Amino acid sequence: MMKNIIIIGSGPAGLTAALYTSRAMLEPLVISGLEPGGQLTTTTQVDNYPGFPEGVLGPNLMENMRKQAERFGTEFVNGAATKVDLSSMPFKLWVEDKLFESKVFIIASGASSRLLGLESEKRLMGKGVSTCATCDGFFFKGKELVVVGGGDSAMEESLFLTKFATKVNIVHRRNELRASKIMQQKAFDNAKVDFIWSSVVEDILGTDEGAVKGVKIKNVDTGEIFEKECEGVFIAIGHIPNTQLFKGQLEMDEKGYILTKNGTKTSVPGVFVAGDVQDPKYRQAVTAAGSGCMAAMDAEKHLEELHATKS
Ligand code: NAP
Repeated sequence: MMKNIIIIGSGPAGLTAALYTSRAMLEPLVISGLEPGGQLTTTTQVDNYPGFPEGVLGPNLMENMRKQAERFGTEFVNGAATKVDLSSMPFKLWVEDKLFESKVFIIASGASSRLLGLESEKRLMGKGVSTCATCDGFFFKGKELVVVGGGDSAMEESLFLTKFATKVNIVHRRNELRASKIMQQKAFDNAKVDFIWSSVVEDILGTDEGAVKGVKIKNVDTGEIFEKECEGVFIAIGHIPNTQLFKGQLEMDEKGYILTKNGTKTSVPGVFVAGDVQDPKYRQAVTAAGSGCMAAMDAEKHLEELHATKS
């Protein structure tokens, strides 16, 4: 099947790109991916997406974005791309053994929060365990929290969380931080922030009702294991861009984020990129949606130029 535009990913970036390109009558095809709707489908209340004065549930917001894109004729393939070939136009994409071809690709495959890999972390995610202080901090007013990580994100999230929490305990696996000096200092200077050094979270403890009541911590130097009471756990140990599929075909930074130039262009003409897959810094639904719009406009212009050279 030969398409004008294939959009890889169905988070805010992918669905905004779909909305714009379908309204431009380019009949885009969206490959929904392993997590249709993206990271917002794993959150609860979203209070920082403009246009919703009372807030909106993450899954509902994504469902609405999908419906809005469908209204203008966007088609969806429910499944994840298993292979791509960007070596020549038309670009090729496979979902298992089904081949799709397109003149333009918009990659919006997002990023995933790096997790500790604990069963309890999975079970309590969204019920006291979170990967996004900006999204969920507000729900922890007057509570004691644990933040895991020693980088800039962990410091930034901890400092943000002190606005709500009574105390924030940062658990870091080494005895020095990876964060920039200025962020370290801000955290050291904040009376609400405490550090638990050279330690890892071995388990997150839940109540019978499925809320967080504490963590089991192990000191990696002494082997000592102890429990720390808390009502929320924020995991801030970095993100992993979902770019495995494009390795060796697109220019990326050392962490695997796709590099852009002149807006949303990648190193391959005709392949555009939007959202968290190219953004290690802002990572917000609204910034992802904004870059999805930019990618759609860049893609539309590219298609016009392609057709102009052919005629
Ligand atoms: P990061 O710099 O990669 O730091 C990740 C932290 O998590 C490290 O301290 C690491 O420990 C720890 N960690 C990784 N895997 C772990 C595991 N399995 N268990 C326990 N701890 C683990 O990631 P980031 O903090 O998200 O920052 C990403 C980039 O964004 C950085 O370049 C950062 O400077 C930038 N950023 C900047 C700002 C700002 O300037 N305001 C804010 C946020 C992010 P080790 O130190 O032992 O490796």
